[in-house]
Amino acid sequence: MTSVDMEADVAEVLLSEDEIRAKVLELGRQISDDYAGRQLTLVSVLKGSLPFMADLMRSITIPVRIDLMEVSSYGGITTESSGLVRILKDLSSSIEGSDVLLVEDIIDTGLTLNYLLRYLRGKNPASLRICTLLDKPARRLVEIPVDYIGFTIPDRFVVGYGLDYGELYRNLRFVGVLRPEVYSG
Ligand code: 5GP
Repeated sequence: MTSVDMEADVAEVLLSEDEIRAKVLELGRQISDDYAGRQLTLVSVLKGSLPFMADLMRSITIPVRIDLMEVSSYGGITTESSGLVRILKDLSSSIEGSDVLLVEDIIDTGLTLNYLLRYLRGKNPASLRICTLLDKPARRLVEIPVDYIGFTIPDRFVVGYGLDYGELYRNLRFVGVLRPEVYSG
């Protein structure tokens, strides 16, 4: 069971608010350099990428457009990826001829991203690269070249800074691991 005190449910802070802030600034600087003079569109995937997208776009200093998609990649209260991807919200504008940077919260098995990449490539962007805050390479099932990685993390189920367990904990300002009782409760 989840308690009313979210922080009491956290067993360990994996990435502090300060560490995340510094890394997002660094990624923003790098992306601004790499895309200088180009037409950059950031495409993020709701809901988990929301805080990362909001912070990353403000740490980028060149003009950007943004668009949002929503997909469901796993069913409700479970910590396992199913590989089933459903598009709940599609792009609002055409990305044909644009340089697109896909902004992700976490890459685990890579199945969700693999599906999204194929889908977005079909819309003929000028280029398509990937930026993820978290990378969990231990469970990767499909090989995907990732252009910008915030943090490589061990094979733990994490919550916070957008990431949920049963739709909760997204508003934590850090990334952490829950106490085992929270899952088994
Ligand atoms: P993949 O398809 O790469 O296995 O999984 C990607 C999606 O699974 C993520 O966008 C996220 O919704 C969910 N996911 C994978 N690992 C974690 C995790 O450690 N914590 C949370 N909250 N979600 C995860």
